[in-house]
Amino acid sequence: MSGFEPSGRAVAAILDDAVAGRRISAGDAHRLLLDGDLLDLGLAAQAVRERMNDPAVATYAIDRNINYTNVCVYKCRFCAFYRPPGDPEGYLVPFEEIGRKIEETLALHGTGILLQGGVHPDLPLQYYLDLLGFIRERYPTIHRHAFSPPEVKFLAKKERLSFAEVIGRLKEAGLMSIPGGGAEILSDAIRKEVLAHPKASADEWIEVMRQAHRLELRTTATMMFGMGEELAARVEHLHRIRDLQDETGGFTAFIPWTFQREHTDLPDLPEVSAHEYLTLLAVARLFLDNVTHLQASWVTQGKKIGQLGLAFGADDLGSIMIEENVVAAAGARYQMSQEEMERLIHAAGYTPRQRTNLYERFVTREETAPLAEQYRHALSPERRPLAGG
Ligand code: SF4
Repeated sequence: MSGFEPSGRAVAAILDDAVAGRRISAGDAHRLLLDGDLLDLGLAAQAVRERMNDPAVATYAIDRNINYTNVCVYKCRFCAFYRPPGDPEGYLVPFEEIGRKIEETLALHGTGILLQGGVHPDLPLQYYLDLLGFIRERYPTIHRHAFSPPEVKFLAKKERLSFAEVIGRLKEAGLMSIPGGGAEILSDAIRKEVLAHPKASADEWIEVMRQAHRLELRTTATMMFGMGEELAARVEHLHRIRDLQDETGGFTAFIPWTFQREHTDLPDLPEVSAHEYLTLLAVARLFLDNVTHLQASWVTQGKKIGQLGLAFGADDLGSIMIEENVVAAAGARYQMSQEEMERLIHAAGYTPRQRTNLYERFVTREETAPLAEQYRHALSPERRPLAGG
C-alpha cells in the first residue's frame, strides 16, 4: 500500500467537505480522480476558487521565458529541448542578447523574466551570479524568476555547497523567486523511468523549495502529468505540495500541465485528453486548500481548453509568454497577444487583470508605459503593434 489508494467515501460527501472548507484526504483526491463526474468537480472547484480568489477577476502576467542555454547534462526522456554537451546545436545566449530580450519584454509592457536552462556542465555559480547582477543593474525593475531545482542541485554539487548556500548567493545577486520546473511527477517510481534520475529526486525537489522558502523566496509548484504514471502518483504529487505548503507557505501558485510527446523519447504514450486535464485541475483546486492560485495552461492545452480551465477552479491564465522554447520543442505551438488573453478572460465571464509575477497586485498600463516607451526601439517592426500604441 502506498498510502495514496482511493478512500471508501462517496464522491458527493467529499465534494461537500471541500466546498465547505473542510480538508479532504489524499485518498479522497484519488477517489475524485477515479469517480468524480467532470461537471460536478468543476462546480465544486469553482465554489472553492470563488472563496479563495476574487470571483469577478481572472489574472495573467506578461513575461518572457529566456532559455539561456539548451545544453544539458541530463537526458530526460520526455524532453525535446536539450542538446548534449558538444552538440553543434547547443547554445549559450550571450548577456547582451539576454538584455535585448528583456528590453523587448519591457517594450511589450512585461514585468518579468523566467530564466531557465538546460543544466550546463561547465557553468560555475559565478556565471549565474554575474548574469543576475548584469540584469539587476541594467533593468532593476524586471522580476527575476529563475533557476529551477535541478539547476540549483547541480550547482550545489559542482560547488560543494548546500542548497541553502547556493540559493542564498543567488538571492544576494538578485534572484527574486524560483520556478517549479523539474517537478514533473513527485513520485520516485515514475521519475526513475522517465527522468535522467540524478537530475533531482522528489525529495531533492522538495528540499530545494523548502530552503528557498526558508530564505523568503517564493516559488511556484508545477506538475507535468501524462507520462504513463498511475493516478496514485498524481495524488502523491499533490500531497507533497500541500505538505510543504503547510510547513512553509512559500508557494504562490500551482501550475499543472500535460506531457507533450512530439520529438521526445516517449512518442507512443497516449495524449492526455482535455477531460483528464480538467479533472486534474479541478481536483487540485479542491485538494490544495493552502495554495492560493491555480493556473490553467493554455500553452499546452490550447486557448479554448485553457479558457475552460477558468470554469474548473483556475483563477489565472499564466503568461502571454513572449517567448517559449521548451514545450514548443515538444510540439506545443500556441501563441497569445495581450489583447487575445483579455478577450478570452472576458468571454469566460471575468474581468481580466494583468498581475505582478508574485500575484501581489494588479499592474496598470500607466505603470508599464514609461519603460515600454523607453525600449520601443527594441521591438522588431512586426511586434510593434503588440505593444499597444
Ligand atoms: S527536462 Fe531539463 S534537465 Fe531534463 S533534459 Fe530537458 S533541459 Fe535537461
